[in-house]
Amino acid sequence: MILNLGRKPVKPTLRREWAQPARTAQELLERLGPEKVLLERAQRRNYAYDGIALGVTPALVILPTSTADVVEVVRFAHQVGLPIVPRGAASGLSGGAVPLEESIVVSFTRMTALSIDPQARIATAQPGVVTYRVSEAARPYGLFYPPDPASFRTSTIGGNLAENAGGPMCFKWGVSGDYVLGLEFVDASGQVHRLERQAYDLVGLLVGSEGTLGLMTEAKLRLEPLPRYTHTLMATFAEVGQAAEAVSQAIAAGAVPSKLEFMDNGCICAVEDYLRLGLPRQAAALLLVDTDGDDPQVVAEELAWVAEACRQHGGQVRLAHDAAEREALWKARRSISPAIGAIKPKRLNEDIAVPRSSLPAVVRAIEALGRQYGLQVVQFGHIGDGNLHPNVLFDPRQDPEEKVWELLHEIARVALRHGGVLSGEHGIGFMKRDFMPEAVDPTTLEALYHLKAAFDPANRLNPGKVLPQTYSPLPESAKLSP
Ligand SMILES: Cc1cc2nc3c(=O)[nH]c(=O)nc-3n(C[C@H](O)[C@H](O)[C@H](O)COP(=O)(O)OP(=O)(O)OC[C@H]3O[C@@H](n4cnc5c(N)ncnc54)[C@H](O)[C@@H]3O)c2cc1C
Repeated sequence: MILNLGRKPVKPTLRREWAQPARTAQELLERLGPEKVLLERAQRRNYAYDGIALGVTPALVILPTSTADVVEVVRFAHQVGLPIVPRGAASGLSGGAVPLEESIVVSFTRMTALSIDPQARIATAQPGVVTYRVSEAARPYGLFYPPDPASFRTSTIGGNLAENAGGPMCFKWGVSGDYVLGLEFVDASGQVHRLERQAYDLVGLLVGSEGTLGLMTEAKLRLEPLPRYTHTLMATFAEVGQAAEAVSQAIAAGAVPSKLEFMDNGCICAVEDYLRLGLPRQAAALLLVDTDGDDPQVVAEELAWVAEACRQHGGQVRLAHDAAEREALWKARRSISPAIGAIKPKRLNEDIAVPRSSLPAVVRAIEALGRQYGLQVVQFGHIGDGNLHPNVLFDPRQDPEEKVWELLHEIARVALRHGGVLSGEHGIGFMKRDFMPEAVDPTTLEALYHLKAAFDPANRLNPGKVLPQTYSPLPESAKLSP
């Protein structure tokens, strides 16, 4: 057993060109039809990246339109001994959809069937449905689908469920996995399974498994009635600790905000430079808060508790009086990504979650690390859940990428030291897999290896993701094949 702690992620390297004769691929092409199989290298190269990393050009790219197509691909992969990398919109930020060796990429972007059953309040979606489309289709029935990753205009339901994605609404409404009532998936041997939520919860095993246990081909998603009223405020603070304490006090008073977002000074200045919204550049922290519900008095009262808590902790509060003002305030949050993207040519996004009470210490420790490494770090996140996204901004011509990765790992260690976890919502992918022995207790880690071996004994589904390849607590006989 080799334990390799704290190593930086392995950069993907091309192991070999696919040695199989073209005839083999031809067989699959005949079975699926030419429009579903990409053979040209120039086309395949477009499926080697995700939101954070560029990997190896896949040997084949398949664009299935049905579960039956997925079964064909899995059987074919088994026959030719190639691994499978499932892929949604490739907006992932932990390298989950990146092929690390020659593989078959299964891109679900053409599996986009979606239907709404308003009576049962259920949406049935294929994995390639873009997230926001579920709420869009449900809205005419007065319903919506709460999970709202900031990427919801590009990310897919398959990618969301594989990462158990969260979003600004997760504090009140929960994360993607909380809305799955049933799941269809194809296992590593090509068998189709249909799971329902029940006492022993196998759906929960697939959700968040990052494409390593099965290929999800359909999901039944719970819909909620649209809240009739929403109120919004923005508060700015001279100290990060004041913002965190205000949030804790408001929650202790009984407020359950539907959105609760935090931005640090670097983020506030970046958005102000980008949009000139009149945000105070001297503020150390900014909170954006929504309360929602069907009783206007309760919704207003909840927001009043939050406003009062903010004021008591030194916050300057601005209330939105109508939909246009609400929209203007939330524009600041929605602009974070392009705003910080405009500062330096490149950035890498961390994703940690810590107890809310540790947040001030964590934000300060991360600021200090940025200064120590001579790199700019800006921080924002879903503060209700203690979820923080420190972004390291850099110029590869001046800042060696090695140094950036080292800083990212130190940031993850700060989270672990403060009782936090390695990932709040972006998953482990290959970016953080070598950290798992540091972040997860040995018994849980061993259970994860056993689980992987039970679902995918030949290690063919998204190999190299989530679990460190250089460490295995399993006996030789039960080890995953390399
Ligand atoms: C600007 C921006 C903002 C973001 N904001 C958020 C946020 O607020 N909250 C959040 O949680 N994330 C956020 N993300 C990260 C990302 O959008 C999410 O992780 C999202 O869930 C990924 O969806 P995708 O369709 O792009 O999946 P991909 O990136 O294509 O894949 C992600 C993982 O899912 C697996 N996968 C995909 N489809 C299937 C399937 N059908 N069956 C099995 N496995 C599958 C892949 O193998 C991979 O491991 C953000 C990203 C960006 C770029």
